[in-house]
Amino acid sequence: MNFDTLIKNGIVVTATDTYPADIGISKGKIVAVGQALPAETATKTFDAQGNFVFPGGIDVHTHLDMPFGGTKSADDFESGTTAAAFGGTTTLIDFAIQYKGQTLRTALDTWWKKADGKAVIDYGFHCIVTDLPDARLEEMKSLVHEGITSFKLFMAYPGVFMVEDGLIFKAMLKASETNSLICMHAENGSAIDVIVQRALAEGKTAPKYHALTRPTTAEAEATGRAIALAEMAGAPVYIVHLSCNEALEKVREARDRGLPTYAETCPQYLYLSLENFDVPGFEGAKYVFTPPLREKWHQEKLWNGLAADHLQVVSTDHCPFCYKEQKELGKDDFTKIPNGGPGIEHRLSLVYTGGVQTKRFSVNRFVELVATAPAKLFGLYPRKGTIAVGSDADLVIFDPNREAVISAKTHHMRVDYSMFEGIRVKGMPRQVFSRGQLVIDNNKFVGRVGQGEFLKRQSYNSP
Ligand SMILES: [Zn+2]
Repeated sequence: MNFDTLIKNGIVVTATDTYPADIGISKGKIVAVGQALPAETATKTFDAQGNFVFPGGIDVHTHLDMPFGGTKSADDFESGTTAAAFGGTTTLIDFAIQYKGQTLRTALDTWWKKADGKAVIDYGFHCIVTDLPDARLEEMKSLVHEGITSFKLFMAYPGVFMVEDGLIFKAMLKASETNSLICMHAENGSAIDVIVQRALAEGKTAPKYHALTRPTTAEAEATGRAIALAEMAGAPVYIVHLSCNEALEKVREARDRGLPTYAETCPQYLYLSLENFDVPGFEGAKYVFTPPLREKWHQEKLWNGLAADHLQVVSTDHCPFCYKEQKELGKDDFTKIPNGGPGIEHRLSLVYTGGVQTKRFSVNRFVELVATAPAKLFGLYPRKGTIAVGSDADLVIFDPNREAVISAKTHHMRVDYSMFEGIRVKGMPRQVFSRGQLVIDNNKFVGRVGQGEFLKRQSYNSP
């Protein structure tokens, strides 16, 4: 058997196994996993001695080139996917937004154009649904046929993205019928709006009030309501960017009852807290995203939730806005600060450092959280998310001992600050392959712009 590429002497890690093996790649696929595969038959050989080999990371929550509040997120599909690749992520699922009055198809066409010819790794789309007359409900089925097998709804941002419970319920019934997955932004937007207006009336306009006007109870209430609606509809539900223990308790209770309830959290909720707002002037704006940062004690609860499978996925909710000119739009009013933070590049290193190095969970659980479970939930498994014969050769040679300090000075995201500035990570990618093509080699980009392909996803599967 001839290989285009052979990765030798690595420790192969999947969600279930850890073992030394060589990996043979041909035409973008893994064609052999075994002991002492013959190097003379390979065009290129990489020695992974002393390193792990992981399936490429899958980030199911990103917002590239996304309009928000009169500006747009700072990374497009070229810079965003490049930064993702530097961090060991080889697949992402971004959100195509249907605006009021539009068809779902219009949303998809718009985002296809944004990504076309730019992505350096493979990508799929969820569809954000904001307007749901009956005709649009029917259209959900045709999107599923196009490989858009998940839909995101908002219980927050009234007047912009929020949909009311009846429509959420109808969408869930349709999701159940079409075997697709509803992703939910769970915060009680109506109550939050009242709290926000009261704060503004009291002259509380600084960035930290974005966080202080969005209580954990608002997230927990909406999480519980989303789960109840899904239970009545006989549909699964996936809670996005879960940030606090109260919401986590709702998910845990539902899962204990055997409901198909799933949730993700993000590195910012694992590493940052309200204390990050103790910075001079307007700098707290760097940490304005939704849901907001919480008191520090929630972090340990979330790490435990990841270890115990109460949470199934770590995604980033990457939605970068520069501090200069973009975040500054809200200088006098926190409600005008574009919501979002940059995180696409450092997910694997942060979760590895905080999860595996600290022995909170195994390296297998790490792989499950950043690759395998997202692949299963979002219809990409086993093409993506594991190391097996027949799977895409999306692979990361990962050096568990390589250390770095995260900084905006060295990151590859097109944004002028880092949420994780100064945090030391141990465990970083050395080489990253996308369908067998070397994309990152020792912290150098060697991939090709436009190499990334749109992924037509299958229906969701329980991880
Ligand atoms: Zn988001």
